[in-house]
Amino acid sequence: MNTRCYSCDEVSDATRIRCDCGEPVWFDTDTTAFEWPTDDVRGVWRYASLLPAAPTDGLGWAAGNTPLLRTPRLDEYAGCTLWVKDEAENPTGTFKDRGSAVAVAAAEARDVNAVGTVSHGNMAMSTAAHAAATGLPCVVLVPDDISEKRLAAISQYEPEIIRVAGDYGKLYFDSLELGEELGIEFVNSDVPLRVAGQKTVALELIEQFDGVPDAICLPVSSGGQASGVWKALRELKEANLIDALPRLYFVQAANCDPIAEAFREGHEVRPIDPEPTAAYSIANANPPSGNRVLAAAAETDGAVVSVSEAAIHDATGNLATKAGLCVEPSSAVALAGLRQLAERGEVDATDRVALILTGTGFKELDGAATDAPSVPLAKLDEHLATVLGDT
Ligand SMILES: *Cc1c(COP(=O)(O)O)cnc(C)c1O
Ligand SMILES: [Zn+2]
Repeated sequence: MNTRCYSCDEVSDATRIRCDCGEPVWFDTDTTAFEWPTDDVRGVWRYASLLPAAPTDGLGWAAGNTPLLRTPRLDEYAGCTLWVKDEAENPTGTFKDRGSAVAVAAAEARDVNAVGTVSHGNMAMSTAAHAAATGLPCVVLVPDDISEKRLAAISQYEPEIIRVAGDYGKLYFDSLELGEELGIEFVNSDVPLRVAGQKTVALELIEQFDGVPDAICLPVSSGGQASGVWKALRELKEANLIDALPRLYFVQAANCDPIAEAFREGHEVRPIDPEPTAAYSIANANPPSGNRVLAAAAETDGAVVSVSEAAIHDATGNLATKAGLCVEPSSAVALAGLRQLAERGEVDATDRVALILTGTGFKELDGAATDAPSVPLAKLDEHLATVLGDT
């Protein structure tokens, strides 16, 4: 499989990551013979004929096959008819497992010395877990000031963790060069191998929905997942399995929103100086696939919006109390964005919208407050009667 630049159409070989024009490339998939599978293979390998890797035994088989849920109690809040794709069900709790499964399998076949990634959170955990399952050595480059808690989550899989002092945005590009020199396959956020795996969330979603929703809404950081979703939909259209693409809505935290800013101002994505956000899994201030996200929004008549910290907090709570879903703030950002789009009239109550809930909240629950009363057992009957009386 060759790679191709989405922007200038230049074709390169399979190992290419970025085009001479500066934009990221993706795999040039042959979709002509693709039909919806009729077998009962589930997970990312269900779509192996559209992927640049063949399945290997192990954890990769646990990636994907997540439920698409109708969430009626959230319709009013979201301002539309809502479905959610629950990516928290992946083996390390995020959609990153789809990209890791495919990228690590491909790295194994390429006979590299090691697989690597630059991340201080979900992608590091996911890449290390999938590498562990295949026995491939794994190098994880993290920022020098990483928290102990995050280090613990990543280190359970025993990758080679290296804290790197220096510009974290630059590390993304430097790691790719170093990887080429040293035979380490760096499967960073938006490299073609990872984006290929990330496609499967949209393939699954369309198959489960049994058609095309009016819109799909998801949080974006580097733009890797967004690129995968856009690519998958284009491939389905090429294969004549869908007639038109849904509108693609992308959401960022207002405290770190380089892509939304570029969308608003009508210019290319530029690095920004961010403020801290609860949505730290999506706080990339210099997104390598930012312009590709802008192109996806433009082509599908979608948008890129950003939301406040208060809106993110509120959406996280509503996902729990109206749908029973425990997600991290970075996922809830998508719901907050959808609510904003509905308030602006870009989405209406009859629109059928699928939200991608990218990651679990179980990794970071320690900040949650509770005000549960303490009641003596002998008084429990009385107390419960009062509680029920209150409702
Ligand atoms: C990585 C991540 C994202 C953003 O994905 P990109 O591909 O970098 O745009 C969103 N949500 C969660 C939970 C993530 O871990
Ligand atoms: Zn190009």
